Amino acid sequence: MTMASDTKMTPQSGLLSAEANQAAALAAFGGVLTVDLDAIIANWRKLEKTAVPAECSAVIKADAYGCGAAQVARALNKAGCKTFFVATIEEARNVRGAVPEAALYVLGGYFQNTGEHYAKINCRPVIGDLNELAEWDVFCRRTGWSGGAAIHIDTGMNRLGLTLSEAQAIIPRINAGDHGITLVMSHLVSAEQLNSQINAKQLAAFRGIASEFSGVPAALANSSGIFLGAPFQFDLVRPGAALYGVNPTPEADNPMQPVVDLKARIVQTRTIERGETVGYGGTWTARRPTKLAIIAVGYADGYFRAASSNDGTRGAEVIVAGKRCPVAGRVSMDLIAIDITDLPPNAARRGHMVTLLGEGITVDELAHHFGTIGYEVLTSLGHRYARVYKGGNAVEPLTKPEPAPAAEQPPAPPPIEQPTAPPPLPS
Ligand SMILES: *Cc1c(COP(=O)(O)O)cnc(C)c1O
Repeated sequence: MTMASDTKMTPQSGLLSAEANQAAALAAFGGVLTVDLDAIIANWRKLEKTAVPAECSAVIKADAYGCGAAQVARALNKAGCKTFFVATIEEARNVRGAVPEAALYVLGGYFQNTGEHYAKINCRPVIGDLNELAEWDVFCRRTGWSGGAAIHIDTGMNRLGLTLSEAQAIIPRINAGDHGITLVMSHLVSAEQLNSQINAKQLAAFRGIASEFSGVPAALANSSGIFLGAPFQFDLVRPGAALYGVNPTPEADNPMQPVVDLKARIVQTRTIERGETVGYGGTWTARRPTKLAIIAVGYADGYFRAASSNDGTRGAEVIVAGKRCPVAGRVSMDLIAIDITDLPPNAARRGHMVTLLGEGITVDELAHHFGTIGYEVLTSLGHRYARVYKGGNAVEPLTKPEPAPAAEQPPAPPPIEQPTAPPPLPS
């Protein structure tokens, strides 16, 4: 964590609350984002237990849903997680150093001429069409690389993946052995809806095709899919959101622990008259003499403008001095006004920290106010906060489940040519 350099306390400031002292130390930042790595580990263990005997991997794409991919990968790897999924080669490169031994899959598919990138950091493409497979095979044949790849089969998402008949067409290759396929997977469309008929359809389709990939570990379930029951869990599960505290079972209580705590600093308090308005557009009018706290976080920090309030609609809430207080007026780029009229006098002062996420305000609650899902709340968390990581030093439990085949390491990479030009950027 980066700290402001001038953190010396005067004797008087030593009398301030711990929160106020923290605020003084972090005065260079508008907010403090704390990621609880122990909570991520606890969530992973809970998912692992729910899915046992399947292996539990971790999806750490998009910087581990905004929580910090290298930190999360390192902590989970220490706790026993052996397989990780990212979206791009660049993301894989950024976490490889943190988890040198783990199996690392790149979900985004295989692009021509990127084989060297995979080989160089020993990660595996998730191959989603026959052209990709052909190109990957050419690379492997040319270089002797045998680090493995996953085959993604589409069972209804219609996004990435071989069609069922394309998948069928490569079964002879699987049966011939020495095929280099380390995982066969598909992805659920509506796993968070317990009674969606699509779940059963996808399960049946995937079960059928996966059974023909004999000897190849199979994976279908994301976070919510794990909670659809054992038939969905196959050999490996791929949770993402639930690791970071998003409720994987929206129709029931959240079984996961909260992971992210977000605090912002009060830069000013002020009192306004009844009838005055607050913020851009003057959309919120004080109905009584009103005390406001102005905090140093805004939509540029990932606190969506959709959480604004106006004279007709209540917006999101923020916890100030232990109490929920409403957002007053529009969320602006760097600042938000909070109505703190109902707090005891002096309960909230300049320099105090308020809680935007945490202390009972969940990612899912914020998502509701933002008009989105917890996933987008997390991946939108800004980069202006001071970041603090808590915990993460758990060691692997003594009783570990049998490692599934998917966790096995590929052979040591054979020497290959240096990577040539980087892959072409999409235009
Ligand atoms: C993102 C992703 C996951 C993780 O999904 P969550 O709903 O976050 O658990 C699993 N599999 C694939 C293919 C993904 O793209």
